[in-house]
Amino acid sequence: MDYDVIIIGSGPAGASTAMHLAEMAPRIAARTLVLERDTHPRHKLCGGGCVIDVETCLQNLGLDLSQVPQADAKWIHLNYHNAGFKMRMGERAFRVVRRNEFDAWLAANMVHRGIELREQTTVTDLQVESDGVVVRTNQGDFRAKIVVGADGAKGMVRKYVGPDAPTQVARVVEMYTPMESSIGLGQAEANEAVMDFDCVAQGIQGYSWCFPMKLNGRPMRNFGAYDSGINPQGKSSGSLRSVMKEYLERYGHRMEDYELQGHPIRMFLSQGVFSSPRLMLVGDAAGVDAAFGEGISPALGYGPIAAEMIRDAFESGDFSLAEYKNRVLRSSLGKSLARRTWIAKQIYRLQTPWMQSMIWRHCGAAVRWVIRNFVFNWAKPIPAPALQPASVLPEISLSTASAERSTAEQRPNTVVHPEQPVPKPHLPPVTSQTEVSQVDRLSETR
Ligand SMILES: Cc1cc2nc3c(=O)[nH]c(=O)nc-3n(C[C@H](O)[C@H](O)[C@H](O)COP(=O)(O)OP(=O)(O)OC[C@H]3O[C@@H](n4cnc5c(N)ncnc54)[C@H](O)[C@@H]3O)c2cc1C
Repeated sequence: MDYDVIIIGSGPAGASTAMHLAEMAPRIAARTLVLERDTHPRHKLCGGGCVIDVETCLQNLGLDLSQVPQADAKWIHLNYHNAGFKMRMGERAFRVVRRNEFDAWLAANMVHRGIELREQTTVTDLQVESDGVVVRTNQGDFRAKIVVGADGAKGMVRKYVGPDAPTQVARVVEMYTPMESSIGLGQAEANEAVMDFDCVAQGIQGYSWCFPMKLNGRPMRNFGAYDSGINPQGKSSGSLRSVMKEYLERYGHRMEDYELQGHPIRMFLSQGVFSSPRLMLVGDAAGVDAAFGEGISPALGYGPIAAEMIRDAFESGDFSLAEYKNRVLRSSLGKSLARRTWIAKQIYRLQTPWMQSMIWRHCGAAVRWVIRNFVFNWAKPIPAPALQPASVLPEISLSTASAERSTAEQRPNTVVHPEQPVPKPHLPPVTSQTEVSQVDRLSETR
Protein backbone atom coordinates (compact mmCIF):
# COMPACT_ATOMS: atom_id res chain seq x y z
CA MET A 1 0.00 0.00 0.00
CA ASP A 2 1.20 3.50 -0.82
CA TYR A 3 1.47 6.33 1.68
CA ASP A 4 3.09 9.76 1.67
CA VAL A 5 4.76 9.20 5.04
CA ILE A 6 5.38 6.14 7.17
CA ILE A 7 6.43 6.72 10.78
CA ILE A 8 8.04 3.70 12.43
CA GLY A 9 7.29 3.71 16.18
CA SER A 10 4.44 5.24 18.15
CA GLY A 11 6.31 6.43 21.25
CA PRO A 12 6.39 10.17 22.04
CA ALA A 13 8.62 10.98 19.05
CA GLY A 14 6.43 9.19 16.50
CA ALA A 15 3.16 10.43 17.98
CA SER A 16 4.41 14.03 18.17
CA THR A 17 5.65 13.98 14.57
CA ALA A 18 2.31 12.62 13.37
CA MET A 19 0.23 15.12 15.37
CA HIS A 20 2.30 18.09 14.23
CA LEU A 21 1.92 16.85 10.67
CA ALA A 22 -1.85 16.72 11.19
CA GLU A 23 -1.69 20.41 12.15
CA MET A 24 0.80 21.64 9.55
CA ALA A 25 -0.08 19.50 6.56
CA PRO A 26 -3.47 17.76 6.95
CA ARG A 27 -3.37 16.34 3.42
CA ILE A 28 -0.05 14.62 4.05
CA ALA A 29 -1.24 13.51 7.48
CA ALA A 30 -4.26 11.88 5.85
CA ARG A 31 -1.81 9.75 3.87
CA THR A 32 0.44 8.97 6.83
CA LEU A 33 0.75 5.57 8.47
CA VAL A 34 2.30 4.86 11.88
CA LEU A 35 3.66 1.34 12.34
CA GLU A 36 4.10 -0.04 15.85
CA ARG A 37 5.48 -3.47 16.66
CA ASP A 38 3.65 -3.59 20.00
CA THR A 39 0.08 -2.89 21.14
CA HIS A 40 -0.76 0.07 23.39
CA PRO A 41 -0.67 0.24 26.31
CA ARG A 42 2.75 -1.35 25.87
CA HIS A 43 5.60 -1.62 28.33
CA LYS A 44 8.43 0.91 27.96
CA LEU A 45 11.27 0.95 30.42
CA CYS A 46 11.54 4.56 31.62
CA GLY A 47 11.64 6.55 34.87
CA GLY A 48 8.68 8.51 33.51
CA GLY A 49 10.01 11.84 34.83
CA CYS A 50 8.25 14.60 32.85
CA VAL A 51 10.05 17.93 33.23
CA ILE A 52 8.51 21.31 32.47
CA ASP A 53 9.40 21.04 28.77
CA VAL A 54 7.18 17.97 28.40
CA GLU A 55 4.23 20.06 29.53
CA THR A 56 5.09 22.86 27.10
CA CYS A 57 5.50 20.42 24.19
CA LEU A 58 2.15 18.83 25.04
CA GLN A 59 0.45 22.22 25.32
CA ASN A 60 1.76 22.97 21.84
CA LEU A 61 -0.19 19.91 20.77
CA GLY A 62 -3.29 21.05 22.66
CA LEU A 63 -2.76 18.28 25.23
CA ASP A 64 -2.86 18.41 29.00
CA LEU A 65 -0.54 16.10 30.93
CA SER A 66 -2.85 16.14 33.96
CA GLN A 67 -5.11 13.70 32.07
CA VAL A 68 -2.52 10.96 32.59
CA PRO A 69 -2.17 9.16 35.98
CA GLN A 70 0.92 10.56 37.67
CA ALA A 71 2.83 11.25 40.85
CA ASP A 72 4.35 14.60 41.71
CA ALA A 73 8.03 14.94 42.56
CA LYS A 74 7.79 18.15 44.59
CA TRP A 75 11.53 18.65 44.80
CA ILE A 76 14.57 16.95 43.37
CA HIS A 77 17.64 16.52 45.58
CA LEU A 78 20.96 16.43 43.72
CA ASN A 79 23.39 14.82 46.13
CA TYR A 80 26.84 13.57 46.63
CA HIS A 81 26.96 11.17 49.61
CA ASN A 82 23.60 12.27 50.98
CA ALA A 83 24.31 16.00 50.93
CA GLY A 84 23.77 18.55 48.19
CA PHE A 85 20.95 20.84 47.19
CA LYS A 86 17.36 20.60 46.08
CA MET A 87 15.56 22.40 43.29
CA ARG A 88 12.28 22.61 41.42
CA MET A 89 10.80 24.47 38.46
CA GLY A 90 7.69 26.30 39.61
CA GLU A 91 5.39 24.17 41.75
CA ARG A 92 7.31 20.94 41.39
CA ALA A 93 10.52 19.39 40.11
CA PHE A 94 8.66 17.18 37.62
CA ARG A 95 5.73 14.83 37.25
CA VAL A 96 6.20 11.08 37.07
CA VAL A 97 4.05 9.06 34.67
CA ARG A 98 4.06 5.41 33.68
CA ARG A 99 5.01 5.12 30.07
CA ASN A 100 2.46 2.45 29.19
CA GLU A 101 -0.29 4.88 30.21
CA PHE A 102 1.36 8.03 28.84
CA ASP A 103 2.19 6.53 25.45
CA ALA A 104 -1.24 4.91 25.07
CA TRP A 105 -2.84 8.29 25.79
CA LEU A 106 -0.61 10.01 23.22
CA ALA A 107 -1.33 7.32 20.62
CA ALA A 108 -5.08 7.62 21.25
CA ASN A 109 -4.88 11.38 20.71
CA MET A 110 -2.90 10.82 17.55
CA VAL A 111 -5.50 8.46 16.14
CA HIS A 112 -8.25 10.84 17.23
CA ARG A 113 -6.64 13.41 14.92
CA GLY A 114 -6.98 11.10 11.97
CA ILE A 115 -3.62 9.37 11.85
CA GLU A 116 -3.69 5.72 10.89
CA LEU A 117 -1.93 3.42 13.34
CA ARG A 118 -1.16 -0.23 12.75
CA GLU A 119 -0.06 -2.13 15.82
CA GLN A 120 1.60 -5.55 15.97
CA THR A 121 3.48 -4.55 12.84
CA THR A 122 7.24 -4.90 13.04
CA VAL A 123 9.36 -3.29 10.38
CA THR A 124 12.08 -5.69 9.35
CA ASP A 125 13.72 -4.05 6.36
CA LEU A 126 13.77 -0.87 4.28
CA GLN A 127 14.57 -0.47 0.63
CA VAL A 128 15.25 3.08 -0.47
CA GLU A 129 14.48 3.65 -4.15
CA SER A 130 14.65 6.78 -6.31
CA ASP A 131 10.92 7.54 -5.97
CA GLY A 132 10.13 6.13 -2.52
CA VAL A 133 10.89 3.65 0.23
CA VAL A 134 9.65 0.09 0.48
CA VAL A 135 8.93 -0.78 4.11
CA ARG A 136 8.92 -4.52 4.76
CA THR A 137 7.05 -5.75 7.83
CA ASN A 138 5.69 -8.94 9.35
CA GLN A 139 2.30 -7.81 7.95
CA GLY A 140 3.43 -7.26 4.39
CA ASP A 141 5.06 -4.47 2.42
CA PHE A 142 4.18 -0.77 2.42
CA ARG A 143 5.54 2.12 0.38
CA ALA A 144 6.05 5.78 1.26
CA LYS A 145 7.75 8.87 -0.10
CA ILE A 146 9.33 9.58 3.31
CA VAL A 147 10.02 7.25 6.25
CA VAL A 148 10.53 8.60 9.77
CA GLY A 149 12.52 6.46 12.21
CA ALA A 150 10.84 6.99 15.59
CA ASP A 151 11.80 3.50 16.63
CA GLY A 152 13.81 4.26 19.76
CA ALA A 153 17.38 3.72 20.90
CA LYS A 154 17.60 0.21 19.47
CA GLY A 155 15.75 1.12 16.29
CA MET A 156 16.56 -0.30 12.88
CA VAL A 157 16.00 2.80 10.69
CA ARG A 158 19.24 4.31 11.88
CA LYS A 159 21.36 1.69 10.18
CA TYR A 160 19.87 2.72 6.82
CA VAL A 161 20.42 6.43 7.52
CA GLY A 162 24.06 6.35 8.53
CA PRO A 163 25.52 3.00 9.48
CA ASP A 164 28.98 4.47 10.02
CA ALA A 165 27.98 7.78 11.60
CA PRO A 166 29.35 8.62 15.04
CA THR A 167 26.94 7.61 17.80
CA GLN A 168 26.99 6.87 21.52
CA VAL A 169 24.54 5.12 23.80
CA ALA A 170 24.11 5.37 27.56
CA ARG A 171 23.44 2.34 29.77
CA VAL A 172 20.38 2.57 31.99
CA VAL A 173 18.81 0.15 34.50
CA GLU A 174 15.66 0.47 36.56
CA MET A 175 13.37 -1.30 39.07
CA TYR A 176 10.30 -0.51 41.20
CA THR A 177 9.87 -1.08 44.93
CA PRO A 178 6.94 -0.47 47.26
CA MET A 179 7.03 3.01 48.80
CA GLU A 180 6.36 1.89 52.36
CA SER A 181 9.47 -0.25 52.59
CA SER A 182 11.78 2.45 51.21
CA ILE A 183 13.79 3.90 54.08
CA GLY A 184 16.83 6.13 54.14
CA LEU A 185 15.60 8.90 51.84
CA GLY A 186 17.95 11.24 53.71
CA GLN A 187 16.54 14.75 53.77
CA ALA A 188 14.05 13.87 51.02
CA GLU A 189 10.34 13.34 51.70
CA ALA A 190 8.28 10.54 50.20
CA ASN A 191 6.99 12.82 47.43
CA GLU A 192 10.46 14.05 46.47
CA ALA A 193 13.01 12.70 44.02
CA VAL A 194 16.71 12.10 44.55
CA MET A 195 19.64 11.92 42.13
CA ASP A 196 22.92 10.73 43.65
CA PHE A 197 26.25 11.24 41.94
CA ASP A 198 28.36 9.08 44.30
CA CYS A 199 28.77 6.48 41.57
CA VAL A 200 30.85 8.85 39.40
CA ALA A 201 33.80 8.14 41.66
CA GLN A 202 33.10 4.41 41.12
CA GLY A 203 33.61 4.65 37.38
CA ILE A 204 30.05 5.49 36.30
CA GLN A 205 29.60 8.64 34.19
CA GLY A 206 26.12 9.31 35.48
CA TYR A 207 24.03 8.95 38.61
CA SER A 208 21.60 6.77 40.57
CA TRP A 209 18.02 7.91 41.06
CA CYS A 210 15.06 7.33 43.31
CA PHE A 211 11.74 8.80 42.07
CA PRO A 212 8.24 8.66 43.58
CA MET A 213 5.72 7.02 41.28
CA LYS A 214 2.27 5.44 41.26
CA LEU A 215 1.51 1.95 40.05
CA ASN A 216 -2.24 1.46 39.63
CA GLY A 217 -2.78 4.21 42.21
CA ARG A 218 -0.36 2.68 44.69
CA PRO A 219 2.61 4.86 45.77
CA MET A 220 5.89 3.21 44.79
CA ARG A 221 9.52 4.17 44.29
CA ASN A 222 11.36 3.87 41.05
CA PHE A 223 15.11 3.23 41.38
CA GLY A 224 17.60 3.37 38.56
CA ALA A 225 21.13 4.09 37.44
CA TYR A 226 22.33 5.99 34.37
CA ASP A 227 25.78 5.73 32.81
CA SER A 228 26.44 8.02 29.86
CA GLY A 229 29.98 6.76 29.25
CA ILE A 230 30.25 10.02 27.31
CA ASN A 231 34.01 10.34 27.76
CA PRO A 232 35.44 7.28 26.06
CA GLN A 233 38.87 8.08 27.44
CA GLY A 234 37.50 8.33 31.00
CA LYS A 235 36.61 5.48 33.30
CA SER A 236 33.18 4.01 32.64
CA SER A 237 34.01 0.60 33.82
CA GLY A 238 31.74 0.31 36.85
CA SER A 239 29.02 -2.32 36.83
CA LEU A 240 25.54 -0.81 36.98
CA ARG A 241 24.37 -3.92 38.77
CA SER A 242 26.75 -3.38 41.69
CA VAL A 243 25.96 0.35 41.77
CA MET A 244 22.25 -0.52 42.02
CA LYS A 245 22.87 -3.14 44.71
CA GLU A 246 24.69 -0.67 46.92
CA TYR A 247 22.16 2.07 46.22
CA LEU A 248 19.16 -0.11 47.04
CA GLU A 249 20.75 -1.24 50.29
CA ARG A 250 20.99 2.37 51.33
CA TYR A 251 17.20 2.54 50.98
CA GLY A 252 16.59 -0.70 52.86
CA HIS A 253 16.11 -3.00 49.85
CA ARG A 254 17.85 -6.16 48.75
CA MET A 255 18.40 -6.31 45.03
CA GLU A 256 17.72 -10.04 45.00
CA ASP A 257 14.09 -9.30 45.97
CA TYR A 258 13.46 -7.44 42.72
CA GLU A 259 14.32 -7.78 39.13
CA LEU A 260 16.34 -5.25 37.24
CA GLN A 261 15.63 -4.18 33.68
CA GLY A 262 18.00 -2.45 31.34
CA HIS A 263 17.70 -0.46 28.13
CA PRO A 264 20.02 2.00 26.34
CA ILE A 265 19.41 5.68 25.59
CA ARG A 266 21.00 7.15 22.47
CA MET A 267 22.73 10.44 23.23
CA PHE A 268 22.63 13.53 21.05
CA LEU A 269 25.81 14.28 19.10
CA SER A 270 26.00 17.40 16.93
CA GLN A 271 28.26 15.51 14.54
CA GLY A 272 25.76 12.66 14.35
CA VAL A 273 23.49 11.72 11.48
CA PHE A 274 19.82 12.74 11.38
CA SER A 275 18.64 12.02 7.85
CA SER A 276 19.48 10.64 4.43
CA PRO A 277 17.44 10.91 1.23
CA ARG A 278 13.82 9.98 2.10
CA LEU A 279 14.72 8.87 5.66
CA MET A 280 14.82 10.87 8.87
CA LEU A 281 15.30 10.14 12.58
CA VAL A 282 13.47 11.55 15.61
CA GLY A 283 13.62 10.98 19.39
CA ASP A 284 15.89 8.28 20.77
CA ALA A 285 16.65 7.12 17.24
CA ALA A 286 18.28 10.52 16.61
CA GLY A 287 19.66 11.27 20.09
CA VAL A 288 18.48 12.83 23.36
CA ASP A 289 19.90 14.26 26.58
CA ALA A 290 23.37 12.98 27.45
CA ALA A 291 23.64 14.69 30.84
CA PHE A 292 20.66 13.11 32.64
CA GLY A 293 19.04 10.80 30.07
CA GLU A 294 15.97 13.04 29.85
CA GLY A 295 14.39 11.86 26.63
CA ILE A 296 10.63 12.42 26.77
CA SER A 297 10.66 16.16 26.08
CA PRO A 298 13.30 15.86 23.33
CA ALA A 299 11.28 13.03 21.73
CA LEU A 300 8.23 15.31 21.67
CA GLY A 301 10.38 18.24 20.57
CA TYR A 302 11.67 16.56 17.42
CA GLY A 303 8.04 16.32 16.23
CA PRO A 304 7.46 19.87 14.94
CA ILE A 305 10.92 20.05 13.32
CA ALA A 306 10.38 16.77 11.47
CA ALA A 307 6.81 17.65 10.47
CA GLU A 308 7.92 21.00 9.04
CA MET A 309 10.72 19.29 7.10
CA ILE A 310 8.25 16.77 5.67
CA ARG A 311 5.80 19.51 4.65
CA ASP A 312 8.58 21.48 2.96
CA ALA A 313 9.88 18.38 1.16
CA PHE A 314 6.45 17.74 -0.35
CA GLU A 315 6.07 21.41 -1.29
CA SER A 316 9.47 21.61 -2.99
CA GLY A 317 9.61 18.06 -4.32
CA ASP A 318 13.10 17.74 -2.81
CA PHE A 319 13.20 14.54 -0.78
CA SER A 320 16.90 14.69 0.05
CA LEU A 321 15.97 16.02 3.54
CA ALA A 322 19.47 17.48 3.57
CA GLU A 323 18.31 20.56 5.49
CA TYR A 324 16.88 18.53 8.41
CA LYS A 325 20.11 18.31 10.42
CA ASN A 326 20.65 22.09 10.22
CA ARG A 327 17.10 22.68 11.35
CA VAL A 328 17.57 20.35 14.33
CA LEU A 329 20.88 21.98 15.30
CA ARG A 330 19.46 25.51 14.96
CA SER A 331 16.32 24.75 16.98
CA SER A 332 16.05 25.48 20.70
CA LEU A 333 15.86 21.70 21.19
CA GLY A 334 19.06 21.08 19.25
CA LYS A 335 20.89 23.86 21.07
CA SER A 336 19.75 22.53 24.42
CA LEU A 337 20.78 18.96 23.55
CA ALA A 338 24.19 20.11 22.29
CA ARG A 339 24.72 22.01 25.56
CA ARG A 340 23.71 18.94 27.56
CA THR A 341 26.24 16.78 25.71
CA TRP A 342 28.90 19.37 26.51
CA ILE A 343 27.80 19.58 30.17
CA ALA A 344 27.82 15.77 30.48
CA LYS A 345 31.38 15.66 29.15
CA GLN A 346 32.48 18.19 31.75
CA ILE A 347 30.72 16.92 34.87
CA TYR A 348 31.42 13.25 34.26
CA ARG A 349 35.05 13.90 33.41
CA LEU A 350 35.60 15.05 37.01
CA GLN A 351 35.74 11.61 38.56
CA THR A 352 37.62 12.20 41.79
CA PRO A 353 35.47 12.33 44.95
CA TRP A 354 36.50 15.86 45.91
CA MET A 355 35.51 17.21 42.49
CA GLN A 356 32.07 15.59 42.61
CA SER A 357 31.67 16.80 46.18
CA MET A 358 32.57 20.31 45.01
CA ILE A 359 29.93 20.28 42.25
CA TRP A 360 26.99 18.83 44.14
CA ARG A 361 27.67 19.89 47.75
CA HIS A 362 29.36 23.25 47.40
CA CYS A 363 28.30 24.80 44.09
CA GLY A 364 24.53 24.36 44.41
CA ALA A 365 23.56 27.87 43.33
CA ALA A 366 25.72 27.78 40.19
CA VAL A 367 24.58 24.28 39.19
CA ARG A 368 20.92 25.22 39.74
CA TRP A 369 21.41 28.23 37.49
CA VAL A 370 23.03 26.16 34.75
CA ILE A 371 20.29 23.52 34.90
CA ARG A 372 17.48 26.11 34.80
CA ASN A 373 19.02 28.15 31.99
CA PHE A 374 21.02 25.71 29.90
CA VAL A 375 19.45 22.30 30.38
CA PHE A 376 15.70 22.65 30.82
CA ASN A 377 13.19 25.31 29.81
CA TRP A 378 14.17 24.95 26.16
CA ALA A 379 10.61 24.38 24.87
CA LYS A 380 8.79 27.52 23.82
CA PRO A 381 5.04 27.80 23.33
CA ILE A 382 4.10 27.68 19.64
CA PRO A 383 1.92 30.70 18.89
CA ALA A 384 -1.72 30.15 17.90
CA PRO A 385 -3.43 28.73 15.94
CA ALA A 386 -3.06 26.03 18.55
CA LEU A 387 -4.08 22.49 17.87
CA GLN A 388 -7.56 21.46 18.77
CA PRO A 389 -7.67 21.00 22.55
CA ALA A 390 -8.41 17.47 23.59
CA SER A 391 -9.70 18.19 27.08
CA VAL A 392 -11.80 15.10 27.41
CA LEU A 393 -11.18 12.41 24.90
CA PRO A 394 -14.29 10.76 23.64
CA GLU A 395 -14.26 7.00 23.74
CA ILE A 396 -11.64 6.23 21.18
CA SER A 397 -10.48 2.97 19.98
CA LEU A 398 -7.21 3.44 18.24
CA SER A 399 -8.63 2.01 15.08
CA THR A 400 -11.72 4.23 15.01
CA ALA A 401 -10.43 7.51 13.73
CA SER A 402 -8.34 5.96 11.03
CA ALA A 403 -11.13 3.61 10.07
CA GLU A 404 -13.41 6.60 9.55
CA ARG A 405 -11.38 7.83 6.65
CA SER A 406 -9.77 4.75 5.29
CA THR A 407 -11.19 1.91 3.35
CA ALA A 408 -13.14 -0.83 4.99
CA GLU A 409 -10.10 -3.02 4.91
CA GLN A 410 -9.53 -5.01 8.10
CA ARG A 411 -6.45 -4.01 9.98
CA PRO A 412 -5.21 -6.59 12.45
CA ASN A 413 -4.41 -5.63 16.01
CA THR A 414 -5.23 -1.97 15.89
CA VAL A 415 -7.79 -1.77 18.68
CA VAL A 416 -6.75 -0.16 21.92
CA HIS A 417 -9.04 1.71 24.23
CA PRO A 418 -7.17 4.59 25.90
CA GLU A 419 -9.32 4.43 29.01
CA GLN A 420 -9.19 0.71 29.38
CA PRO A 421 -7.57 -0.43 32.63
CA VAL A 422 -3.85 -0.73 32.22
CA PRO A 423 -2.76 -4.33 32.65
CA LYS A 424 -1.50 -5.00 36.15
CA PRO A 425 2.26 -4.74 36.16
CA HIS A 426 4.23 -7.38 37.97
CA LEU A 427 5.57 -6.87 41.41
CA PRO A 428 8.44 -7.47 41.60
CA PRO A 429 8.70 -6.15 38.05
CA VAL A 430 9.47 -8.38 35.16
CA THR A 431 12.93 -8.41 34.03
CA SER A 432 15.24 -9.69 31.69
CA GLN A 433 18.54 -10.28 33.35
CA THR A 434 19.96 -10.72 29.90
CA GLU A 435 18.91 -7.21 28.98
CA VAL A 436 20.79 -5.88 32.01
CA SER A 437 23.92 -7.74 31.13
CA GLN A 438 23.55 -6.60 27.55
CA VAL A 439 23.28 -3.03 28.79
CA ASP A 440 26.28 -3.58 31.05
CA ARG A 441 28.20 -4.77 28.01
CA LEU A 442 27.26 -1.72 25.97
CA SER A 443 30.22 0.15 27.37
CA GLU A 444 32.46 -2.22 25.49
CA THR A 445 30.66 -1.84 22.19
CA ARG A 446 30.06 1.85 22.32
C1 LIG B 1 15.56 3.04 32.22
C2 LIG B 1 15.22 4.34 31.53
C3 LIG B 1 14.73 5.40 32.28
C4 LIG B 1 14.40 6.60 31.65
N1 LIG B 1 13.87 7.62 32.40
C5 LIG B 1 13.48 8.77 31.80
C6 LIG B 1 12.85 9.80 32.57
O1 LIG B 1 12.61 9.66 33.77
N2 LIG B 1 12.49 10.95 31.90
C7 LIG B 1 12.73 11.12 30.58
O2 LIG B 1 12.41 12.20 30.04
N3 LIG B 1 13.30 10.14 29.82
C8 LIG B 1 13.68 8.97 30.41
N4 LIG B 1 14.22 7.97 29.65
C9 LIG B 1 14.41 8.20 28.19
C10 LIG B 1 13.08 8.01 27.45
O3 LIG B 1 12.46 6.81 27.85
C11 LIG B 1 13.33 7.96 25.92
O4 LIG B 1 14.21 8.98 25.57
C12 LIG B 1 12.02 8.12 25.15
O5 LIG B 1 11.20 7.00 25.36
C13 LIG B 1 12.28 8.26 23.65
O6 LIG B 1 11.04 8.23 22.97
P1 LIG B 1 10.95 7.69 21.45
O7 LIG B 1 9.55 7.93 21.02
O8 LIG B 1 12.07 8.24 20.68
O9 LIG B 1 11.24 6.13 21.56
P2 LIG B 1 10.45 4.98 22.30
O10 LIG B 1 9.68 5.53 23.43
O11 LIG B 1 11.46 3.93 22.60
O12 LIG B 1 9.43 4.45 21.22
C14 LIG B 1 9.87 3.70 20.10
C15 LIG B 1 8.69 2.91 19.58
O13 LIG B 1 9.07 2.27 18.38
C16 LIG B 1 8.57 0.95 18.35
N5 LIG B 1 9.44 0.17 17.48
C17 LIG B 1 10.76 -0.09 17.64
N6 LIG B 1 11.23 -0.81 16.61
C18 LIG B 1 10.19 -1.01 15.77
C19 LIG B 1 10.05 -1.70 14.52
N7 LIG B 1 11.09 -2.32 13.94
N8 LIG B 1 8.84 -1.71 13.93
C20 LIG B 1 7.77 -1.07 14.49
N9 LIG B 1 7.86 -0.42 15.68
C21 LIG B 1 9.04 -0.38 16.31
C22 LIG B 1 8.64 0.52 19.81
O14 LIG B 1 7.77 -0.56 20.09
C23 LIG B 1 8.24 1.81 20.52
O15 LIG B 1 6.86 1.89 20.72
C24 LIG B 1 14.56 6.75 30.24
C25 LIG B 1 15.04 5.67 29.48
C26 LIG B 1 15.37 4.48 30.11
C27 LIG B 1 15.87 3.34 29.28
